[in-house]
Amino acid sequence: MQDCLFCKIANGEIPSKILYQDAEVVAFADINPQAPHHVLLIPRRHLASMKEVTEQDGALLAHLFVVANKLAQDFGLSERGFRFVTNVGPDAGQSVFHLHFHLLGGRPFGWPPG
Ligand code: 5GP
Repeated sequence: MQDCLFCKIANGEIPSKILYQDAEVVAFADINPQAPHHVLLIPRRHLASMKEVTEQDGALLAHLFVVANKLAQDFGLSERGFRFVTNVGPDAGQSVFHLHFHLLGGRPFGWPPG
């Protein structure tokens, strides 16, 4: 999508610290990290948010989850745990309208979230 920040990051138009990429997904460091490890995982294909996900996206999302799990293991987060979240819409604080999942780890998190 032409004016989407995360599409531009995925295709290299805007620089970011890429931690993993393949034909389907990209993982890159959040520019404003909220934890010692804060990675954003996106599908390359533009979906504005989780609201646009359909049954046809099942394999894509399963793959994205497996990549996230592998990154969490690589960061040494598996034992203590980590958080994996997507914000949907204004009440959740979504600020970039390209589906993305936050992988956060390296510190304890509270619940319920703020
Ligand atoms: P949201 O608030 O939509 O759930 O998350 C958007 C995330 O994108 C935020 O955590 C924000 O710090 C991150 N972000 C915004 N602009 C950029 C950017 O230009 N580069 C990177 N790497 N992350 C960004």
